[in-house]
Amino acid sequence: MRVLGIETSCDETGVAVYDSQQGLLAHSLYSQVELHSEYGGVVPELASRDHVRKLLPLIDEVMAAAGTQSQDIDGIAYTSGPGLIGALMVGACAGRSLAYAWGCKALGVHHMEGHLLAPMLEANPPAFPFVALLVSGGHTQLVRVDGIGRYRMLGESLDDAAGEAFDKAAKMLDLDYPGGPQIAKLAEQGEPGRFRFPRPMTDRPGLDFSFSGLKTFTLNTVAEHKLESGLPDDQCCADIAYAFEDAVVATLVIKCRRALEQEGLKTLVIAGGVSANKRLRAELESKLAKIDAGVYYARHEFCTDNGAMIAYAGCQRLLAGQEQELALKVQPRWDLESLPDISADGPS
Ligand code: ATP
Ligand code: MG
Ligand code: FE
Repeated sequence: MRVLGIETSCDETGVAVYDSQQGLLAHSLYSQVELHSEYGGVVPELASRDHVRKLLPLIDEVMAAAGTQSQDIDGIAYTSGPGLIGALMVGACAGRSLAYAWGCKALGVHHMEGHLLAPMLEANPPAFPFVALLVSGGHTQLVRVDGIGRYRMLGESLDDAAGEAFDKAAKMLDLDYPGGPQIAKLAEQGEPGRFRFPRPMTDRPGLDFSFSGLKTFTLNTVAEHKLESGLPDDQCCADIAYAFEDAVVATLVIKCRRALEQEGLKTLVIAGGVSANKRLRAELESKLAKIDAGVYYARHEFCTDNGAMIAYAGCQRLLAGQEQELALKVQPRWDLESLPDISADGPS
């Protein structure tokens, strides 16, 4: 089965063609980062309009790169939530209209299921069951995964998502959006141990997270050390970036280990934008090796939003026979646990 995947949930237009026999045939991404940069965050209406401009040319480009004609496509998968409603509508309308014109199936895909399954696109994919840490701009969740659509929430952030915390801390240090990669880069110059930031909610049992206190701690540290320019000196900014990243990574590692032990599992999958963080990957690898557990993640470009993960997730669901009702539906909020179970021993 050959599936065209479309991702437009936020500020990235992603398109890919995935073939269940041959794997990923082509993919491309257009990022709107520059469009939104002067506003310091994503402006929803500008995002929708830019998806309208970029989506069809990107589909043409990816179809050509994949050497695929419309008649070779068996299904179209588009992100139908969660995300910005206008942005989602663009992908959904384009996906459903093309499917109607091409006479193929169309299916709305859950964006976080896309992230969660992205590591399956790699050469050595993880096997079920596993614990997944979803760490992105809008989500921080620990999920037990027993198959596609067999998800049980183990814990999640009570306030900010980890990626959002990176973005806000970056803003305090006058770094550009998205802040995660910027903080990570600056942290490389930081002096370990100059500051120690708290590891929120690690001293009590449970698998929930909270990152808003860490944000306040960062703000206070910046304020304490700021010079006339309004910012601390360069070295101090790097030391703060280091301490911030260190605290987020340490907190995530503690909870991942706890989740694996609680569930009696040895496989951890990390997905979403923050899973691109090198220190998170390295720390998880070294700390989980001690309990004989392994970590899986997607290649760098498939950690953040992309069309490949949507094409893959949609393909699995279409192969399992999942059909979608004709009405066009997008869901800005959508609970991952409510997805239909399509695993071999599942109910459907
Ligand atoms: P969601 O998937 O929850 O709807 P989103 O789609 O905006 O949110 P992603 O595209 O998965 O999120 O990830 C973007 C987030 O990942 C941003 O918050 C960004 O700062 C963060 N991020 C990207 N690279 C890194 C990195 N190397 N280190 C830390 N954070 C990173
Ligand atoms: Mg994004
Ligand atoms: Fe995302």
